[in-house]
Amino acid sequence: MSDTIDQAQIQSELILEHQIRQATQRTPMPTRTHCIDCDEPIPLLRQQKVSGCQRCVACQTEFETGKARGVISG
Ligand SMILES: [Zn+2]
Repeated sequence: MSDTIDQAQIQSELILEHQIRQATQRTPMPTRTHCIDCDEPIPLLRQQKVSGCQRCVACQTEFETGKARGVISG
């Protein structure tokens, strides 16, 4: 049944489009007042400059270097 195939294709295209939109839209996460890792207050200036920032500078640096190295420390 070609109808079924068309439907499936349309559906997968919609899903793909949705995923692309989500990836490109970059909906900013709400900026936090406190670091999600160490719970230290994030400086107001950082909150204002880094929209959607979730970590203090120290934790963000650690997070990014850890990510770059591909190391997940538990
Ligand atoms: Zn922190």
